[in-house]
Amino acid sequence: MTENPSLSNLLKEERRFAPPVELAAAANVTAEAYEQAKADRLGFWAEQARRLTWATEPTETLDWSNPPFAKWFADGKLNVAYNCVDRHVEAGHGERVAIHFEGEPGDSRAITYAELKDEVSRAAHALTELGVQKGDRVAVYLPMIPEAVVAMLACARIGAAHSVVFGGFSADAIAARIKDADAKVVITSDGGYRRGKPSALKPAVDEAVSRVDSVRHVLVVQRTKQDVAWTEGRDVWWHEITRKQSTEHTPEAFDAEHPLFILYTSGTTGKPKGILHTSGGYLTQTAYTHHAVFDLKPETDVYWCTADIGWVTGHSYITYGPLANGATQVMYEGTPDTPHQGRFWEIVQKYGVTILYTAPTAIRTFMKWGDDIPAKYDLSSLRVLGSVGEPINPEAWMWYRKNIGADKCPIVDTWWQTETGAMMIAPLPGVTETKPGSAQRALPGIAATVVDDEANEVPNGGGGYLVLTEPWPSMLRTIWGDDQRFIDTYWSRFQDRYFAGDGAKKDEDGDIWLLGRVDDVMLVSGHNISTTEVESALVSHPSVAEAAVVGAADETTGQAIVAFVILRGTANVEDEGLVADLRNHVGSTLGPIAKPKRVLPVAELPKTRSGKIMRRLLRDVAENRELGDVTTLTDSSVMELIQSRLPAAP
Ligand code: ATP
Ligand code: MG
Repeated sequence: MTENPSLSNLLKEERRFAPPVELAAAANVTAEAYEQAKADRLGFWAEQARRLTWATEPTETLDWSNPPFAKWFADGKLNVAYNCVDRHVEAGHGERVAIHFEGEPGDSRAITYAELKDEVSRAAHALTELGVQKGDRVAVYLPMIPEAVVAMLACARIGAAHSVVFGGFSADAIAARIKDADAKVVITSDGGYRRGKPSALKPAVDEAVSRVDSVRHVLVVQRTKQDVAWTEGRDVWWHEITRKQSTEHTPEAFDAEHPLFILYTSGTTGKPKGILHTSGGYLTQTAYTHHAVFDLKPETDVYWCTADIGWVTGHSYITYGPLANGATQVMYEGTPDTPHQGRFWEIVQKYGVTILYTAPTAIRTFMKWGDDIPAKYDLSSLRVLGSVGEPINPEAWMWYRKNIGADKCPIVDTWWQTETGAMMIAPLPGVTETKPGSAQRALPGIAATVVDDEANEVPNGGGGYLVLTEPWPSMLRTIWGDDQRFIDTYWSRFQDRYFAGDGAKKDEDGDIWLLGRVDDVMLVSGHNISTTEVESALVSHPSVAEAAVVGAADETTGQAIVAFVILRGTANVEDEGLVADLRNHVGSTLGPIAKPKRVLPVAELPKTRSGKIMRRLLRDVAENRELGDVTTLTDSSVMELIQSRLPAAP
């Protein structure tokens, strides 16, 4: 048994897809960008910063004199909200739709850039009237409605940092985040529409605020008109206070390093961390990547990112990147199966969506629901498809390409994190020959590689840990209030390199494949095996819709692979032959070492509210342990269901 085995590289994927000729011919970014950034990385980013409108142009690009605390464009000044709204109006695009809002009950609203400017200005005045000043923090707890974007931009406009808390989190989670950030104001709503009915939001805020001292006002958007409890003097209706404000608001220019927001990570592995992002570098990289990776043409594209505003994807690719680029986008309030399982495709058809950005968890769900559902809609407007959040299984990638992308749209699998602020590893749709399941290559200006335990770069064909070797503009600046945790978590494992916490491999071409979290990697008979590869092998079996794999303590092999699978419609849960068949399928796809010891069909898998599989809970189940922290689970009853279905361990 080797001491520190590197990550095994078991999955072979030979399918390749060249970029569509027409798209390549007119692409925003060509292969030259890699060359240019390689020749002069900082010069490249200085040029990208010129996409923004600065009140004072920066002369410095990167200050790395006190690593790992970076400063980007430090002597520049700008207003982020001005960049996302006003400048498009000034350039004559005031009549362009910024947001096509689609409510779950079917109500809709188109908001032009000119209207957005008025709304953001009014909200900025309202926050000022409520005592919010530059440098303060404002918590935002809203459903997916345009006011969420307006609230974020209003904070940015007056130099207050927002801390958006996902609208499904509990009072506990809200209170902890308000306390950690010391927020003065909370912006919420009476409720929002989810799964066909109004669901209340304000009660959780009321409870959270009663437990903290810092909050002076709760600003309440009226969405559902349901009854709410009201605390006089503290609570203020959004429509009442904004209505009386002026639509003229002069944006103040702030330092490039002025805090823009704090966002807590989704808590897949443990206690969420308050990730701090600042202004100039963050906006530069979100705008550049949105332009490059989606090939956005603001005059003609209709872009739709299905993430919630409560996650970093919503921050960077609903609010900041697209609006900085003057995009027209769709925003949808509800769930994909309300009132029917074709809702997403109905929306694509209705608005003529050209660029769609969603998550593997959603794609696997659509696969489970069946090919006939998207087939009923006209999806021919689509031209680029994106994926984010987890490694995408090659079979899910192929399904996405075929059933949603008509076998022609390039798929951009984008690897990044709350901490990185923007995309880091992704194909370029007009350049890259794509491979199902691989994020492929660091974007121009980004330096990423894979190292072994001793921090040596692995050769092509090898596996290990993903690291980022150079600072990047949208990098987190610290963990809010805890510089030491920032250093310990990200910068201590490998000297001078950012440790992402994800396993990865390089293929023979040097392309990067993400293999899941390092914490989830399994050690079986001296081999490090990635959960992602075993899960992808299972999902490639026609009877499996979704799979989650963990390593459970085992006397003979160190860890044994235990697989939890959701079967497709017609497959029988009690079929013992099927279980044997699945084990053999993995054995023949990846090799005998990866054959699961146990395969357990289940009805649901535990997921975070952002849709990611929480393997640590499944590990607890597989090892007959008491469950760890379940607070970030979407539905904690899922765990009871899984436990009740389990046969006793052999
Ligand atoms: P926590 O850090 O609190 O455990 P989290 O890591 O789930 O939560 P996020 O920042 O939302 O919080 O997610 C980033 C992680 O998601 C990455 O580190 C990686 O594990 C995974 N991820 C995101 N996009 C991809 C992708 N395209 N391919 C593979 N993995 C991805
Ligand atoms: Mg993480």
